[in-house]
Amino acid sequence: MLRAILFGLIFFSATGFFIYSIKNFLSYLKIAKPENRFYEIPKRLKNTFEIAFLQTKLLRSKLAGILHLCIYWGFVVLLFVVLESIIEGFFPDFTFAFLGPVYSILTFLQDFFGALVLVTVIFSLIRRYVGTPKRLQVDKAAKIDATFILVMIGLVMITMFGMSVEKILIGQSVGYRPVSAFIAGFFSSGSHTVYEIFWWAHILVVLLFMNYLPYSKHFHVLSSVPNTFFSNYEIPYPGIVLKPINFEDESIVQYGVKDVEDLTWKNLLDGYTCTECGRCTSVCPANLTGKLLDPKLIVTKIRKRTMEVGPLVANKVESDPVLDKNLVHDYITPQELWACTTCMACVQECPVMIDHITPIIDMRRDLVMMESEFPNELNTVFRNLENNESPWAFGAEQRNDWIDELSEELAKEGKENHLRKVSNLGTADDLDIVFWSGCAGAFDKRYRNVTKSFAQLLNHAGVKYGVLGSEEKCTGDPARRLGNEFLAQTFIQQNVETLKKYNVKKVVTACPHCMHTLKNEYNKFGIDLDVTHHTEYIDNLLKEKKLQPKKEIKEKVTYHDSCYLGRYNHIYNSPRESLESAGVDLVEMARSKDKGFCCGAGGGRMFLEEHEGKRVNIERTEEALKTGAKTIATACPFCMTMLTDGVKEKEKSDEVKVKDVAEIVLESL
Ligand code: SF4
Ligand code: SF4
Repeated sequence: MLRAILFGLIFFSATGFFIYSIKNFLSYLKIAKPENRFYEIPKRLKNTFEIAFLQTKLLRSKLAGILHLCIYWGFVVLLFVVLESIIEGFFPDFTFAFLGPVYSILTFLQDFFGALVLVTVIFSLIRRYVGTPKRLQVDKAAKIDATFILVMIGLVMITMFGMSVEKILIGQSVGYRPVSAFIAGFFSSGSHTVYEIFWWAHILVVLLFMNYLPYSKHFHVLSSVPNTFFSNYEIPYPGIVLKPINFEDESIVQYGVKDVEDLTWKNLLDGYTCTECGRCTSVCPANLTGKLLDPKLIVTKIRKRTMEVGPLVANKVESDPVLDKNLVHDYITPQELWACTTCMACVQECPVMIDHITPIIDMRRDLVMMESEFPNELNTVFRNLENNESPWAFGAEQRNDWIDELSEELAKEGKENHLRKVSNLGTADDLDIVFWSGCAGAFDKRYRNVTKSFAQLLNHAGVKYGVLGSEEKCTGDPARRLGNEFLAQTFIQQNVETLKKYNVKKVVTACPHCMHTLKNEYNKFGIDLDVTHHTEYIDNLLKEKKLQPKKEIKEKVTYHDSCYLGRYNHIYNSPRESLESAGVDLVEMARSKDKGFCCGAGGGRMFLEEHEGKRVNIERTEEALKTGAKTIATACPFCMTMLTDGVKEKEKSDEVKVKDVAEIVLESL
């Protein structure tokens, strides 16, 4: 009786404190903005099952993934031991033995996973101190935290085995526990007292562990499942699709994010959920080339700020030095924010579905629209966008130059030209597609050749295609990613108007940035378009035999994945299959497909200088050159510029060419 009273006191105090902690943490989420994440429930459930329960993202790295999977599932099964021990605290002889064969299976799994978890804990502890991978090299406090947690997990297992071994030795039923029986074989007798010691130790470690969790990075044990469930659910999953700002809403006084209150509750939950595993940092092109940006720190700084501001706001404290600070500048510097290429490698690797990019862009929005604080180079870019409707200093009428050049070239060769100006037709209804050339496709001298090559392929295949010519404007991608949402929306609205005027439904573009924006972001502005990237379109024309390569390009080619085509839109095969149809000998770089390394130009970085560390394009070019390929194939105007510059800088322009997939396929016809 005394045991039950003592246990009850400890148990209810510990549980009460745990509920109090969780309630506080949840109340801090309320300081942020609301956001609806309750749509697409069946798909969310499916992804949660795969990512949180089957841990598919962790398994991208085999060893660490398997270790974590063992600990995770071990814990799920072991919850029954904890439950049994807790009930036993009130009813001393309680066991789940009445479950019959189910109990035998449960106890077997508990023994099996218990041993596995114990081995994993020992291995993980060694890994923390000997031959520690770079991403796990953390500061002293984080190391102590990780060690403490691992020791606690180890103690939970040791005490569990202690209990079952003693039960076997004193002749009590324990179900089917081969590991415990094996250990029991080393002892001649057991005692109730020793069992009691193990039982109390087990219970106390579990309750201590439970209450430590919310205050450590291991809070993810509790929050990773809901965080995965509420992750971004734009298609293609986990699409990073920027949310528009409603500039007509006069109640909005802060554009972008200055402090944690301007973030959404989901951004704050991301902060709680970060396991500090460092996977995001280990793939970040900015961090790997020596920039200040560390995606893990972006998330943990959001958490740190939330933990400081949350209690003050929740308790309605109006004056405190903490409240005089802001997330931007005091915790996260503009240099960190401007270094991001929005390549999405961090989001791709994060095992608990944290979105680093949206807060980064939101903080850029504050810098640009509220503080007018941005790198000097952007003055020119924003001015060009305002005056020329493109980031470059060319007038809108020059958008037609490539069309005139193409017409001349085709006329010289005596070939038919299927290109039509949509404005002349008055509607896109009779066209197969509208070809969106994009600003680079129209103005960049090198990329104009890609635009014309793709147009030639369309001519070859007899596709009836139209162009908007000087009525096409920048899609808004660079301005949006650079935080100038206001400017971006002026283009978006004008383009939407034009596209609606001509009833445009099907668009093909050679620019992944235009594609992503038109396909996945324009629907927030009132138009749903069927948008295809030119490599997908070429691949289909090849498969339909509308394009038939006649000569094989017998050359070693390596293909560089554009982040906005690959990670953002999952297009990995079409460019590769098109290249293979052209007969090339395709070789992969060390980092390719969804592990591909950025060229350094995304997120508007195309227009910014790199002042710190190594240039991202040089890092990628070196990797491409290592393959020994004579051609680096690209499918994006920005990638082409960055890699061409890289090859030039490495003084390899005479030996190695950078070409677009469309150019290579055209050569093969
Ligand atoms: S999006 Fe790319 S550059 Fe930006 S933080 Fe993530 S990994 Fe780094
Ligand atoms: S954000 Fe994700 S990948 Fe990065 S450290 Fe945190 S949990 Fe790991």
